[in-house]
Order: sequence, then C-alpha cells, then structure tokens
Amino acid sequence: MTSIAPHNKAKALKPGSRRPAKELCSECGLCDTYYIHYVKEACAFLNQQISELEAIAHGRSRNLNDENDWYFGVHQDMIAARKKQPIEGAQWTGIVSTIACEMLTQGLVEGVVCVQNTKEDRFQPMPVIARTTEEILAARVNKPTLSPNLSILEQVQQSGMKKLLVIGVGCQIQALRVVEKQLGLEKLYVLGTPCVDNVTREGLQKFLETTSKSPDTVVHYEFMQDFRVHFKHQDGSIEKVPFFGLKTNKLKDVFAPSCMSCFDYVNGLADLVVGYMGAEFGWQWITVRNETGQEMLGLVQEKLDTKEVISKGNRKQAVQQSIPAYDQGVTLPMWAAKLMGVVIEKVGPKGLEYARFSMDSHFTRNYLYVKRNHPEKLADHVPEFAKRIVDQYHLPEN
Ligand code: FAD
Ligand code: SF4
Repeated sequence: MTSIAPHNKAKALKPGSRRPAKELCSECGLCDTYYIHYVKEACAFLNQQISELEAIAHGRSRNLNDENDWYFGVHQDMIAARKKQPIEGAQWTGIVSTIACEMLTQGLVEGVVCVQNTKEDRFQPMPVIARTTEEILAARVNKPTLSPNLSILEQVQQSGMKKLLVIGVGCQIQALRVVEKQLGLEKLYVLGTPCVDNVTREGLQKFLETTSKSPDTVVHYEFMQDFRVHFKHQDGSIEKVPFFGLKTNKLKDVFAPSCMSCFDYVNGLADLVVGYMGAEFGWQWITVRNETGQEMLGLVQEKLDTKEVISKGNRKQAVQQSIPAYDQGVTLPMWAAKLMGVVIEKVGPKGLEYARFSMDSHFTRNYLYVKRNHPEKLADHVPEFAKRIVDQYHLPEN
C-alpha cells in the first residue's frame, strides 16, 4: 500500500470551501491549500499556542517577570533604525524589502513569500513567491487588508525549494510555524511585521471614505507615533487626521473580527520583526528574536542608521480614559481632537512607552470583544502575557 502524506490526502477536503474559524477567520490562506488538514492545530483563532510555539522557534517562551519580554515577546535585541537611502515607495524606509533582496542575492534563500497587489487595485493583496529582486521590490508597501499569504504554500512544496524567506503578519506566521515541518524545507527564515486593526477590502473602503477627505487618491497610510493617521495621496501631499477625531461610532464594525480578537500584535513567532511603533517618529523599530533574526539583520547593517530605543512618559491614564470613550463610540469635534493631538504629542508616551500605549489600548478593547462575542473562547484564546496587560486596567463589567 502506498502511504499518502496527510496533507496530500486532504486534497479531497476541497481547499477553500470552508473556514473552520468561521467569522474569526483572518483569511491567512492556509485553508486554500491542502494544509487545511492541519487547520485545527494551526489556526491562530482555533488554537492559541503562542507560548509553546515560541519555545520551539526561539528556544524559550516569554519571561513574565521581565516587562519588555511580556510586552514585546522573546528578543535578543531591540533597536531603532532607518535606511541611509530609503527605497522610494516603501511603507517606511524599506528595511523589509532590503533584507529580502539581500537574502536572495546572497543565496541564503531561493524564494521570498511576499505580497504584491493586483493590476486593477493598489490595495488588493496578491501573494507571490518572488525569485528576483524586482519581484520583491514590487511587493514593497503595505496592502492594509487581510492577505492570504499562506495560499502559496502548495507552490513552495511543488517548486522543490529548500531555502525560503516568508514575510508576514502574526496570524499568518502562527499557522506557518505549525506546518513548517511539512514544507520539505532545509531552512525557513521568517521576517515579520507587527499588525493591528486590519480590514477586508470593503472595510478599507469604508475606513478611507469615513476618514480621508479624498479616499480615491490615497496610496499609503499609517497610524503614526504622533497620534495622527498620515494619508499619502497620489500627488505626494500628506493629510493628517488626529486619532482622537476618528469617527469611532462609524468605524466600530470596520475592523475584521479576527483582528478584534488578536493578541499577537508584535508577531511573537517571527525571527526578526520590523515595525515602527516602538521607535521615535521617523524611525523604524527592529526586534531581533533569535540567532536567525540576528543573521538576517546582519546582512543589511551597513545600509542602516541605527540608535537605541527609548521609553518616555506614562501611558496608563491615557489608556484608562480611552477604554470607555472607545466603548461608547465617543467622537470629539475636530478642533478638540486636533488640540488634544498637539498636547499629547508634546507630553505623551514616546518610544517603547508609545508601543505599550498602543498595545494596552488594543488588548483591552480586544479582550472586551472576545468576552462579549466569544465568551467560551476567553480563557484559552487570551495568552497569559495579554491577560497581564489587560489586568492593569478597569474594564466595564459587561
Ligand atoms: P517595505 O519594504 O515597504 O515592505 C513591506 C512588506 O510588507 C512587503 O514585503 C509585503 O510583502 C508585506 N506586506 C504588505 N502587505 C501585507 C499584508 N497585508 N500582510 C502581510 N504582509 C504584507 N507596524 C507597527 O509598528 N505597528 C502597527 O500597528 C503595524 N500595523 C501593520 C499592519 C499591516 C497590515 C502591515 C502589513 C504592517 C503593519 N506594520 C505595523 C508594519 C509597518 O507598517 C511596516 O510594514 C514595516 O515597518 C516595514 O516597513 P518597510 O518600509 O521596511 O516595508
Ligand atoms: Fe483557515 Fe487561516 Fe482562516 Fe484559520 S485564519 S480558518 S487557518 S484561512
């Protein structure tokens, strides 16, 4: 009798025909492949196991006695950095794309899983396995929508590649870590970005229409460390909207349910994570989780200006006040929102304290979301480090 690998046998499950996580599905792409066979174990929304997977990927899980560890995950180092020569059109200065290009040209990997956009729509994600630097650079800049990155996993196995880099956000990387051993690779490198408040393509349209003065010309946006959303338009102009002026009442249902119930903001299972929120305005934030991450960062060190991360201010009061305000959908008049933005930018949290501000605000909101909408999942789905973060605040009873 010929033995069949479980994932090949699972072809019969008609990939793409179902999403076991139902409304909590983040469209990570796993269920579009024959690896759907592993979904009950691998899906971030069916089986939260960050701590166990950290121990496998990094040799240990978080030290809950070290605040930086339980906030930012297992790490060897954290620095602020920016490219000396930024890549035109990248989300920030293009550190992610540069690392990927170096890994390919120096022969560490044969391909890079990344996300380009479709010809028709700049914001519609199209996962690819890039095999040239041109293809990697064509994937630069965020597609701020749920992206089925893992949908190309079958192609990885079929291609016969042995060394691969995957770029992705937390939910994609959690599922990837579970099926990693099935891919037939000799070496997998994982380059992550933090991620929060992602949306479907329709949700993105609603967000743009509700928040920007010119939704059709937006090419890029970011929730910046200066407490404003920066929209970049086609003509190069930047529109800034204060966080406190967002129409929370209209935006409450815009974020995907998966992202409203996610506690892996910092991408705890990647080898190396490149974001911005733990660095000062204008700088990117790099977290090296293990030796593999150190090796990846080492490839581009000469192309970067770097400095130490800082931590200033105290986030706690601002977070506590934002909990009922968000819950009740309070929207300030624009003049008050702008004023508040100016004040908080001057005296508010900076560097790692800003990152804690953002994590606390999102984790308390998400904890309430899970408690109200999926109470049966609360105990298992919220990791211990997230419970500690949430426990620092007073939440509404119901
Ligand atoms: P670039 O060189 O421009 O490369 C961007 C890379 O992102 C590309 O390789 C592409 O493949 C990948 N990518 C694009 N869209 C997606 C997607 N939808 N899913 C997976 N991968 C994608 N950082 C924070 O500090 N705080 C946040 O809250 C935060 N939210 C984010 C939300 C999303 C959806 C994404 C994709 C990223 C987020 N980041 C966040 C990371 C940050 O915005 C930058 O992507 C990061 O600093 C890298 O910038 P760069 O110029 O080096 O990237
Ligand atoms: Fe499948 Fe991914 Fe959706 Fe979970 S999040 S149900 S693994 S596609």
